[in-house]
Amino acid sequence: MRDARNGLMRIVVIGGGIAGASAAYWLSEGAEVTLVEAEALCGYHTTGRSAALLTEAWEHGVPAMLASGSRPFLEDPPDGFADIPLLTPLPVAIVGTDGEAVATLADAAAERTEVFVLDAGGLADLCPVIDTAVVTSGVLEPGGREIDVAALHQGFLRGASQRGADIVTGARVETLTRRDGGWRVGVRDSTLEAQVIVNAAGAWCDEVAELAGVTPLGLQPMRRTAFTFEPEHDTSSWPMVIDVHEDYYFKPERTQVMGSLSEEHPMPPHDVRPEEIDVALAIDRIQHATTLEIRHVKRTWAGLRTFSPDRDPVNGFDPVVPGFYWLAGQGGFGIMTSPAMGRIAAGMILHGSLPDDLAASGLTAEMLSPNRFR
Ligand SMILES: Cc1cc2nc3c(=O)[nH]c(=O)nc-3n(C[C@H](O)[C@H](O)[C@H](O)COP(=O)(O)OP(=O)(O)OC[C@H]3O[C@@H](n4cnc5c(N)ncnc54)[C@H](O)[C@@H]3O)c2cc1C
Repeated sequence: MRDARNGLMRIVVIGGGIAGASAAYWLSEGAEVTLVEAEALCGYHTTGRSAALLTEAWEHGVPAMLASGSRPFLEDPPDGFADIPLLTPLPVAIVGTDGEAVATLADAAAERTEVFVLDAGGLADLCPVIDTAVVTSGVLEPGGREIDVAALHQGFLRGASQRGADIVTGARVETLTRRDGGWRVGVRDSTLEAQVIVNAAGAWCDEVAELAGVTPLGLQPMRRTAFTFEPEHDTSSWPMVIDVHEDYYFKPERTQVMGSLSEEHPMPPHDVRPEEIDVALAIDRIQHATTLEIRHVKRTWAGLRTFSPDRDPVNGFDPVVPGFYWLAGQGGFGIMTSPAMGRIAAGMILHGSLPDDLAASGLTAEMLSPNRFR
């Protein structure tokens, strides 16, 4: 299983989004890595279309554990990883008319991170455009953060390159053949050889599995639409506001505000585009919950959030086909969990175990294994 030239394992990572980039970053510490990305630009698909939030109150279960395990790296990356801080403060307010749902969420979130329960007066102080005749309760997570996704993604890619990884773009993997105990990876008019392939193809992970003769997991890509508008307010002290039933959210972004319907429309993997109706519905719901008047939308986009059948991510070897590693199902939390997910992939592939600190937090290989769907 070793490269005859330098004794290192040879690994091909398929997909140059945040998942593939983070895996390549840690794998290249101990293996000869080639990352292949179908598009001309790594990050063109879901990674370049996120809301960039780190939250331990809104996420729960395994994704929240992975977000907490990622936080130390995001707060204090190694010297030279990025020229700017990866995190900036972005408190998160989860709000609603349904006091019971907010209270339940607050109790669960308090076990993971510091939160404060807010009544209508507290909400009005925090974000004066919230209409407290409609939105009556909330929970505030002061530790929420905005992630500089571009800096994080570039840091992973640059770091991987510095450690000797090859990053090849405009290179869609078209064939995957198992031969002599390894893989032959057909890309454009050439063939790469590897002992292990890491399937980090986002919405395309099940399609990549089929190329390799591996049974798909039943991953489901879901469209989510987003847009920005210019508010007539100073938003510098606003939190990100998320409806407790996920009917909408909005988030201050310097001179603009980003909004979303928080919708989940199942669809096949493709270069997804926003639907006008989803933007209109989101505007309607945000205007209903606030005193905002959204007259002019600046930009709209959509991305595919891809979920496994139990909505937890997948990070482990396929139980049937040797050398096929799944790094899939990052749903709506793939940016905030990417340091932990990348470290786990490298730990499992290079050493056969999770990193000690993540194992000590209660994460296990079984929680992340594709075996739970077989
Ligand atoms: C609107 C929206 C808001 C979000 N907000 C947040 C948030 O606030 N916080 C958070 O943590 N996450 C958020 N997410 C989720 C996050 O963006 C994703 O979980 C993450 O980007 C997934 O990364 P990925 O690398 O798995 O997928 P991608 O970024 O899609 O990368 C997969 C790559 O694989 C490539 N590929 C596919 N097939 C092949 C092939 N055959 N050969 C070569 N390459 C191939 C594709 O071209 C693609 O570039 C949000 C997502 C959306 C859409």
